Amino acid sequence: MKFAHQFQVALQEEGFPEQWVKEAFPYKQLKKTIKRVANELEAHNVDLTKLPEGSFEYNFKGDRKGFTPKLTLFYENKPGSNKTQPVKSILSLFPRDPVSTNEATNEAIDQAGLDANSSPSTIPDAVPGSEKATDYRQVEIVVPLMFDAEFFGLIQGDVQSLDQIQQREREDLVQEVNNLHRELVPLAEPAKNRKKSDMYKWRELFEIYLDAGVFFSRREESRGPRTSAEAKKQLEWFQGEVKRRGLATNFQLPGSKKALDRFLKINVTLWQNLKYQEINQQAVGKILKKFDKNTHLGASQTFSKLIESHSIMSEDMAKAICAKINDDVVNITPKLSDYICPVCTSIVWRPIRLKCQHNICVNCCIHFQNHRMRFCPLCRAETIMEADTDSIDADLSRYLKRYFVDEVREKQIENEIKDGRERFGVLYRHPTERKHMHCSVM
Ligand SMILES: [Zn+2]
Ligand SMILES: [Zn+2]
Repeated sequence: MKFAHQFQVALQEEGFPEQWVKEAFPYKQLKKTIKRVANELEAHNVDLTKLPEGSFEYNFKGDRKGFTPKLTLFYENKPGSNKTQPVKSILSLFPRDPVSTNEATNEAIDQAGLDANSSPSTIPDAVPGSEKATDYRQVEIVVPLMFDAEFFGLIQGDVQSLDQIQQREREDLVQEVNNLHRELVPLAEPAKNRKKSDMYKWRELFEIYLDAGVFFSRREESRGPRTSAEAKKQLEWFQGEVKRRGLATNFQLPGSKKALDRFLKINVTLWQNLKYQEINQQAVGKILKKFDKNTHLGASQTFSKLIESHSIMSEDMAKAICAKINDDVVNITPKLSDYICPVCTSIVWRPIRLKCQHNICVNCCIHFQNHRMRFCPLCRAETIMEADTDSIDADLSRYLKRYFVDEVREKQIENEIKDGRERFGVLYRHPTERKHMHCSVM
């Protein structure tokens, strides 16, 4: 499939907003303009493939806001040198001996009335300052092209309008994430009555989301931004997993379903932006390659550099929005992994804050002290022996009890069982175990 067609198909099938489709990269129009540039070169009888290396330069004067492309030919006029040959017809336009300053050369071209319509065949085949001349060494000739400026102007204009779309989209997404944040806080808050909170559901959901790494991979082997195809796969996996675990249908609060829809919509919109940027970027790359293939001007690298700082060429937006989703949405539910004791590797319960500021469970701390292990397991500071029950972090205790009800309860029971066995021997049974035994007998 030809790229122009592929591009059209991609624009149509992804459900992009109408305006995006309208403002997409004018690939077909640019293709026509390339033809015109090639014709212009031909009209000036400039065949760059036949010029020796280093005998022409094509560059852009200005910055990405405003620039002029310029083709300059150089030739040396040394006796016996044949380097003048490929540009013979251009040189023939000079009324008399060309001079070696650029301005003068331009003037000379103006005087010669060289423009897109001039036909080289009508120009007398006389090389001014022919090979016999020795009074100058290098001459620069600026070839007056018109359609190349049109070509690059079109790209630049389009990149600008793509950038505007992206800016608007970014603002809308920021707004949407703010709305979701407001909506989500009361839904994911802990409540005494479990039926009045979806905290655990949201936490699970966000754990799956982080695991999916929809737009940026966190895995060691593939760390970094994802392509739109990869992101689509990850987003589908996330949705599938949420469905498989029944999270969407088991919410306690009616508002949670709505918030989940909003969350998914934000992700889909961000994905669409990624895809749209990606295909437009691809179109820019393809058309520049085509330009070079047909004109041999070698512009793609210089021009890409010129517009490189543009946000269409970066993943700034995805980065910014993902960071915001993390801060304002995903982090609404604190994660267990942030409150793990480095000794027993489960929730840090009755947390001791060591002098080095690390937390470990009071029981783990006592165990360390009994075995004269004096160093913090995280930073190796000698802080263990100084800790006592006064070092228990009461604020953190309250926080954990509030946000990790189940985990704290489980850990308490575990501690009580350990304690009971130490005091009463291996036959000790905790009330919860007894209840369990009783049930299983029944
Ligand atoms: Zn511990
Ligand atoms: Zn430490």
